[in-house]
Amino acid sequence: MESIASTISNALRKFINKAYVEEEDVQELVRELQRALLKADVPVDLVLKFSETVKSKVKQKIPGISTRELAVNTVYEELTKLIGENPAEIKIATKPSKWLFVGIQGYGKTTTVAKVAYYYKKLGYSVCVVCTDTYRPAAFDQLKQLLKDQDIPVFGSEFEKNPIKIFTNAMKEIEEKNLNPDLILIDTAGRHKDEENLIRELQELVREINPEAVFLVLDASIGQRARTQAEAFNKVAKVGYIILTKMDSSAKGGGALAAVSVTNAKVAFVGTGEKISDLEKFVPIEYASNLLGMPDLKSIIKKVSETINIDRAKQISSGKFTIEDFVFQLNDLFKSDLYSTVLKMIPGADKLPRNLKEVTEEKAKIWLSIVNSMNKEERQDSSIINSSRIRRIARGSGRSEKEVKELLEQYEKSKKMVKRMRGYRGLFPIDKEIGRS
Ligand code: GDP
Ligand code: MG
Repeated sequence: MESIASTISNALRKFINKAYVEEEDVQELVRELQRALLKADVPVDLVLKFSETVKSKVKQKIPGISTRELAVNTVYEELTKLIGENPAEIKIATKPSKWLFVGIQGYGKTTTVAKVAYYYKKLGYSVCVVCTDTYRPAAFDQLKQLLKDQDIPVFGSEFEKNPIKIFTNAMKEIEEKNLNPDLILIDTAGRHKDEENLIRELQELVREINPEAVFLVLDASIGQRARTQAEAFNKVAKVGYIILTKMDSSAKGGGALAAVSVTNAKVAFVGTGEKISDLEKFVPIEYASNLLGMPDLKSIIKKVSETINIDRAKQISSGKFTIEDFVFQLNDLFKSDLYSTVLKMIPGADKLPRNLKEVTEEKAKIWLSIVNSMNKEERQDSSIINSSRIRRIARGSGRSEKEVKELLEQYEKSKKMVKRMRGYRGLFPIDKEIGRS
């Protein structure tokens, strides 16, 4: 599994580090991504759709934004679309809210029920748990064991063989004891003599319980089987959420995408260990990085996209790089607290004029106030700024003439550098060498 991760990672890095990106390079990148996603268990149809979209979007060409940047962004955007752009929000609308947990035996259902109970208890909800698994010996014991010391009531029976009876008895007891819980979590059997019986039993349970939410528990390593299983369970009870267990293993959980696509459910949590505290909210961004095997993907994308100002990029790509562009870009960078990070990330930034690397946020602000005192003509063509204009601008901005001259000088240097760069998109030639480590 490890090698898959590094394959994608290498493909992306290789692509990012290319001096100039051709159509063929995009094709090759997409092929590598396809191969890697398939190996990570992402379903074929989704992989195809994904790669077609990436290809066509990358062809689109936004002036001033390099193919490389566009490709990295698109790959990421499309991946998060597959996964779901936002973490699932679980509504708790009724009291008590009954949540039913379904899934094949051995995937971690019972453990997950205990984890979710613990999770919501810690958030301040009052939680009860019911074990209706009459198939697995000691299922009830297992749940009690997991939740001992947690002050979470667990209901079930060692003798009763009818899950509906177990459930109705539990409800009666909850009422008699005046527990008044916010949440009732119901664990179910994941295996039966045969599938038909399991499905029938589940159907009856669903009818009786009328759960507010159905959680499908899936083992991260099951791959393509996720689709048929999700389909089968979804027929019995509309699956609202998916929980991926054993994400602490080497499995990338790509199969979950199949389950998501056939059920329209959202992945809510991931299990990351055997302890009841080993449950995390599902974060699509993190899942994508994991799938691609690029832990730093998130920060690369974030930085690249934050520095892209499409309007400005368009203007600049038309051949202009005005003093206004220069100063505004600098200030944009400081605004997003990116200056030093971007400089660090881009070894190519050593091509920046030496002094520019020492530009501080304060200086960028001063320059902004100076530019604001320039008239339109001067902003468009600073070569017309002679000494009397310098004096006027200095006075208008409340800065010294020396500072105005310094700005003009720095701008000229940067402009020269910018001209030398191919595929230029702004002050920072991100084209170069992101991720070369
Ligand atoms: P069920 O049959 O679906 O109810 O599955 P269980 O809850 O009994 O879990 C089966 C096995 O998987 C147990 O040994 C659990 O400790 C283990 N397990 C469950 N979730 C996780 C997880 O997120 N990570 C790891 N490493 N093990 C897990
Ligand atoms: Mg179980």
